[in-house]
Amino acid sequence: MQVNRYMLGKGSSWATPYYVAIEGQKGPCAMVVAGIHGNEIASIRAAEKLVKLLNEQKLRFSHGKLIIVPIVNQEAYRKRIRGKPDLNRTFPRQKKQAATQPLSAALFKLTQKHRPEWYLDLHEANGLSQKDARVLGQTLISNKGNPVIPTTRRIIKRMNRSIKVKDRHFNMRLHELPGSSRTAAARILGARAVTVETGWSLPEKERIHYQMKIVQHFLTEAGIVKANKVYLSGKVKTVTL
Ligand SMILES: [Zn+2]
Repeated sequence: MQVNRYMLGKGSSWATPYYVAIEGQKGPCAMVVAGIHGNEIASIRAAEKLVKLLNEQKLRFSHGKLIIVPIVNQEAYRKRIRGKPDLNRTFPRQKKQAATQPLSAALFKLTQKHRPEWYLDLHEANGLSQKDARVLGQTLISNKGNPVIPTTRRIIKRMNRSIKVKDRHFNMRLHELPGSSRTAAARILGARAVTVETGWSLPEKERIHYQMKIVQHFLTEAGIVKANKVYLSGKVKTVTL
């Protein structure tokens, strides 16, 4: 399997690496982005771990392509802040409309170039959705009518089966968020787009584990990774399918 590293916005103050892993000539394409908000650490660590597994040839594909951008907003990440302005309100809201920041414009262009059928945007949020329906911690979010909804419900069921503490269960939310990367990928590019939100209040290790597991479930559903064929290193032993 081939894994290549590239730079988004090379030479600019917001330049950030991204990775493209390919197996075979054809196959499904998925894109995973993290760190649109610089302080959502578990999502960033999960994306970094996935890159590491790919580089070490420990997460292997049956066929297809995966693009990972582990830390979209480097400036916000360095300061451990959400980011100003909120990058996740600056993506194009309609076809032919431009993103309002160079970074979101570059990320959207990259998405447009690869046209992934699957788009996962990793985040973290307040609260636990199982305890309070108004909060987004421990949720998977998509847009109304998106073809990813049945798959997402299946993945939530699978995840919750393995989570003993009920309060930590995941729930599905349908939400239109104009200017967000997920809504742009869903509405403009027609991707199966999902935002993953782990709950801040949980231990970091557990949040990273949830993030990685959810991504792996989607890669399996996409047909990029064969079920039960994921080989993981001792260091991340907690991450099994
Ligand atoms: Zn976020």
